[in-house]
Amino acid sequence: MTAEPSAGAVLEIDLQAIADNWDRLCRQHPSGPVAAVLKADAYGLGAVPVARRLFAAGCRHVFTAHLSEAQAIRPLLPNPLPPGVMLAVLNGLWPGDAPAYAEAGIAPVLGSLAEIEDWAAHARALGRPLPALLHIDTGMNRLGLPPEELDVLAAEPGRLDGVRLLYVMTHLVSAEMPSDPVNALQRDRFAQACARLPAAPRSLANSSGCFLGPAFGSDLARPGAALFGVNPVPGQPNPMRAAVRLRARILQVREVPPGGRVGYNGVWTARRPSRIATVPAGYADGYPRSLANQAAACFDEQAVPLVGRVSMDLSTFDITDAPGATVGSWLDLIGPRMTVDEVAHRAGTNGYEILTQLGARYRRAYLGA
Ligand SMILES: *Cc1c(COP(=O)(O)O)cnc(C)c1O
Repeated sequence: MTAEPSAGAVLEIDLQAIADNWDRLCRQHPSGPVAAVLKADAYGLGAVPVARRLFAAGCRHVFTAHLSEAQAIRPLLPNPLPPGVMLAVLNGLWPGDAPAYAEAGIAPVLGSLAEIEDWAAHARALGRPLPALLHIDTGMNRLGLPPEELDVLAAEPGRLDGVRLLYVMTHLVSAEMPSDPVNALQRDRFAQACARLPAAPRSLANSSGCFLGPAFGSDLARPGAALFGVNPVPGQPNPMRAAVRLRARILQVREVPPGGRVGYNGVWTARRPSRIATVPAGYADGYPRSLANQAAACFDEQAVPLVGRVSMDLSTFDITDAPGATVGSWLDLIGPRMTVDEVAHRAGTNGYEILTQLGARYRRAYLGA
């Protein structure tokens, strides 16, 4: 038997925090149930363990982006799907995929007349109604029926014959900016569109949409990021629990004299006798290269600044002010004091991108399963 290799970097994923965040969102969205959006491997955290934990917590609706992602989660659920359980695919229906959806009981989110036609034809061929959601574009100009296709469907609702319409949905463009007038505009366009379509439950809010107030409530909320601890109300205290902690262990410590430079291109210069710690996490692990000289990690309570460039496999931190830190000590690159949102801010991106880029080389430890 060979021993497991030592882990130089560990990604802790707190499934209990994710379940608590789902509960919190359920209270935030009393008008209807709260789905879990688990696209991109549950925002990088592992779709199967996350889905298993959320099903145990009582979640009954899951969205992914791709059919393959829904198929990966499907074995966690009984066959056939119990009533009230929904597994839906946001990116819709590629030609030829209808049989795979129908066999697994997975619902496509139909976003064009062509997709509606494809799905309805398959339902007719099977001689039974098939479940689907209908996506209306109210301003994103990305996916969903555009206004001219909505007009056609409103005039010819028979195009939906054979489709068991689970929800009509739309997606908010700027929900994390409550003052953006596009929010109310989209809500109104959505209400008008629904009034022209066969009666069906509605789905509107993403994570931030759940915090826009009761006017943005619907029959099904669709949060993703907030489940994983990204702040859905930027600029205000984060109502969600942190779900990830990224720890990396010091490989080597260098004494660098004043004037000494660190890392590629020497973009950081010591101004005092400095102790520089090297840890095994770099941009290949999703620790962004744009953090050069911008971020910090934590040793216990103490912030230790990231110095120099982030390399592919390594990063360097100034531990001069943390004399207890030494070879083998653990630094928190993401943790209670250096949140996903803070790392994202310093990297010039958002928490979504930080989470979804978290690398495959970290040892992953699931807490609260
Ligand atoms: C990604 C996505 C969501 C979830 O968005 P969050 O901002 O992560 O909550 C909801 N609906 C659609 C259509 C999406 O693409």
